[in-house]
Amino acid sequence: MLVFPNPLKKRKICDDENVVLFTECYCQNGHNLISDKAKFDEFNGIFLNAKKGEQEGVVALSPVYGCKTRVVVGMKIKENDTYDLYCPKCNEALPAFSNCHCGGKIIALFLNKKAAFDSFIGVCNRIGCANSYIQLGEELITSIRHESV
Ligand SMILES: [Zn+2]
Ligand SMILES: [Zn+2]
Repeated sequence: MLVFPNPLKKRKICDDENVVLFTECYCQNGHNLISDKAKFDEFNGIFLNAKKGEQEGVVALSPVYGCKTRVVVGMKIKENDTYDLYCPKCNEALPAFSNCHCGGKIIALFLNKKAAFDSFIGVCNRIGCANSYIQLGEELITSIRHESV
């Protein structure tokens, strides 16, 4: 198990009720990607396999939208690298929803088991690009708001 200290906690941002906490999100085959293998404070994080060329590692994302904590373990990566993300259970590559403005790809983490693109978390697969958003039906959440999922 990996335990990451949450640097934002000190600034009390994550205690703010304006953030969104994810308790589940899924690959296209319905596997829950939230895992206790990655802990952000008391919260289970989003735990994914990552590949970049010959290298393989894991990526842990904070389950709190608004806290852009992203941790990569086991890979040597540079700030502008992109990597592919895989479900740790079925090892299938997570689908790209669109291209990011930075040239990377927006990878979809589904918020439903049907793998429908009407509700998902979109995260850029480029290290150093903090672009992420939540698509919920017609609604697009791109900044911190009073919402719960
Ligand atoms: Zn899966
Ligand atoms: Zn990007």
